[in-house]
Amino acid sequence: MPIKFPTFRPRRDDFPADLWTKCPSCEQMHYNKVLEKALLVCPDCGHHHRLAASDRIAQLVDIGSFVERDAGLSSVDALGFVDSKSYRDRLAAAQAASGLRDAAVWGTAAIDGHPVALVVMDFGFMGGSMGSVVGEKVARAAEAARDGRLPLIVVSASGGARMQEGTLSLMQLAKTMAALERLRAAGVPYLSVLADPTTGGVFASFAAMGDVNLAEPDALIGFAGARVAAGTIGGELPDGFQRSEFVFEHGFIDRVVARADLRDELARLLRLLRPRGGEPPTPPPESAVEAALRPIAAIGASLAELVAGDGGSADAATSVDDERDGADQAWSRVLAARDTRRPRTLDLLRLMADEYVELSGDRLFGDDPALIAALASIAGRRVVVVGQQKGADTHENIERNFGMPHPEGYRKAVRAMELAERFGMPVVSLIDVPGAHPGPESEERGIAESIARSIGVMTRLRTPIVAAITGEGGSGGALAIAVGDVVLALENSVYSVISPEGCAAILWRDVEQAQAAAAAMKMTAADQLALGVVDEVIAEPDGGAHTDHAETARRLRDAIVGRLDALAGIPIEPLLEARYRRYRDLGAFSEEAIAAAAPQVRVPGIADRLRGLIGAGGRTIVAPVGSALRSRDDPPALDEV
Ligand SMILES: [Zn+2]
Repeated sequence: MPIKFPTFRPRRDDFPADLWTKCPSCEQMHYNKVLEKALLVCPDCGHHHRLAASDRIAQLVDIGSFVERDAGLSSVDALGFVDSKSYRDRLAAAQAASGLRDAAVWGTAAIDGHPVALVVMDFGFMGGSMGSVVGEKVARAAEAARDGRLPLIVVSASGGARMQEGTLSLMQLAKTMAALERLRAAGVPYLSVLADPTTGGVFASFAAMGDVNLAEPDALIGFAGARVAAGTIGGELPDGFQRSEFVFEHGFIDRVVARADLRDELARLLRLLRPRGGEPPTPPPESAVEAALRPIAAIGASLAELVAGDGGSADAATSVDDERDGADQAWSRVLAARDTRRPRTLDLLRLMADEYVELSGDRLFGDDPALIAALASIAGRRVVVVGQQKGADTHENIERNFGMPHPEGYRKAVRAMELAERFGMPVVSLIDVPGAHPGPESEERGIAESIARSIGVMTRLRTPIVAAITGEGGSGGALAIAVGDVVLALENSVYSVISPEGCAAILWRDVEQAQAAAAAMKMTAADQLALGVVDEVIAEPDGGAHTDHAETARRLRDAIVGRLDALAGIPIEPLLEARYRRYRDLGAFSEEAIAAAAPQVRVPGIADRLRGLIGAGGRTIVAPVGSALRSRDDPPALDEV
C-alpha cells in the first residue's frame, strides 16, 4: 500500500520572488541577501547562478574603478526580420526588461590594482546572443586594449550568434577574431572567462581563444546543441557532455575556477602575464585598396533595395502575398544549393585546375574526408585550395560525413593555408557545407576552437585569399574557411548564420516554417551581395549549376583568376589592413553619444551607411541598470537563443 507522506512544500506566497530564489539545481529556497553574499552561488549545492552584467562587474573589479565605454551602441534591424514578433519589438522588450541596450557591456577597470579592458556578457538580454553590437564592443575593447596595452578580459555568457541579424551576426565571429589576432600579435594578454552558458558562435570565436581560458564550474560550454549532438549518435551522450569539466578534460580550458576564487585567480594571472614591453607596432598606412576591392557605394544602394522590397518584411505595409513570393524565391535557392547534382568542390577543382595534388591529414589527429586541401595550378597561377567536400550519392556522402567537417578538417585547412603563406601562394577557398559536424567526437576534439582558430588565421594570413561560396554556406562551419580579401558567390548559393530549419525550429517553433526563415534571414547570394558579406555574384548557366558543370567551373575560374591577378598587385600590409576593415566594418548598429563616454573617432564604414540607409537608432531606453537580484537561471526561452 503506497504511503502518503505529508507535504511540507511551502505555498508559493511564503517565498515572495523579490526576497527568495529557488536553486534550479537542488531546488532549495534561499533568501536573496544570503545568496547575494555568496556571489549567487548556492550555499547548499554550489550551483553557480547566472549573473547580470552589473553584478559580474561588481564582483570582479576594484570598487569604483569601472568606466563604461561605448554605452550608446544599440542594435538595429538591418534585415527587417520578423518571425512571430519583429526583431525591433524583441529588442525593445529585452531593453526594457534588462535595463541594458544589448547583451554586452565593456569598459576599463582595475582588478587588484591592475588596469584592464573588461567585456561582460549578459545572458538576460536575448540569451546573450551576439549580434553586431556585441561583436562591435568586443572588437573595440580588443582595439583599446591593444592601443592602451591593457590586458583584455572577456566574460562570456551566450547562446551564440543572433539569428535575427542573419549573416551580419555570423560576420561578428570574423570581426572579433580579427581584432583579437592583432591583440595577440601586439603581445597583450587576453583572458577568456566562460560562464554558463557559452555556446555556438561565441564559443567558436573569442571565447575559445584566450591566452588563458577559465571557466566557472558546471557551465554549459559547447558548439552545437546537445540534442543535435545526441541525434548524430542516436542517443547517449558522454558523461558531463558540454560541461566545463568535460571541456577541461579535453584540453580546451586551462582551469575551472569557482566564482569565489575568480577575482583572485584573475589578479594572479594579471601579475604573471603582462603586456610585452615596447611600443605597439605602428598601424599600416590607410589605403585606397579597400575601396578598389569593395564598391561600398554600390552596397549601400543595393541594401536600400533589399530593405525596401523583394520579399523584405521591413515595411509593415508589405502584403502577405509579397512575403510568400520572397519565401518561395529564397527557398528555391536553398533547394538549388543543396541539389545533389550540383558540382561539388572536387568536381570544380578538377574542371578549373591545370593540375593539382591533394594533401591529407592535420598532423595532429587524422584526416577529414569532408574537407579537402590541395596544391593546384589554376590558369597558370599556383594556389592552395581548401574546401568542404560533399558526396554525390548516399555511399559517398557517408564516406564524406555529408560534407560536415570535424575539427581535423579545419586544422588541415589551417595547415594548408600556413603552407600557402610560407611559399607565397594565394589561397582559394571553396565553401559548400551544411555546417560543421555536430557530433560528440567533434566537441571532444574542439570543433569550436578549430573554427575560431581558422577564422583568426585567415584574418591575418600574409597572402591573398579568394573565397567562393559554391553551394551551402552553413554558419560557422562555412565562415571557418570563408574569410577572404574577396568573397564570391555562385548565383544559387546561400549563406546563413543557421540553417533555415534550425532557425524555424527555434524562432517559429515549427520546422515546417523553414521557407519563411530562409526568406527572413536574407540568405540568397543576391541578398548577401546587398549586405556586403559577398563582393560578387557569379551567374550560373541557365537552369542552374547542375545542368552544366564545365560552364559553371569556367565562369568561377575566370572570376577567381581575375581577382587573384588584381590582388597580386597589392602590397601585403595594405591588403591585410583592407581585409581587417572588410570584417571590422560589417554589422549594423546605432550609436548615441552618452555623457562621460570618451569621444570615439571612426572612419565611416558600412555600419554607418547601413545606419544612414535604415534611419535607425535614436531610441532611448531609460531603465535602471539594476543591482537588483535577477535570476537568469531559467532555461533559455526558445526565442532567447
Ligand atoms: Zn543548490
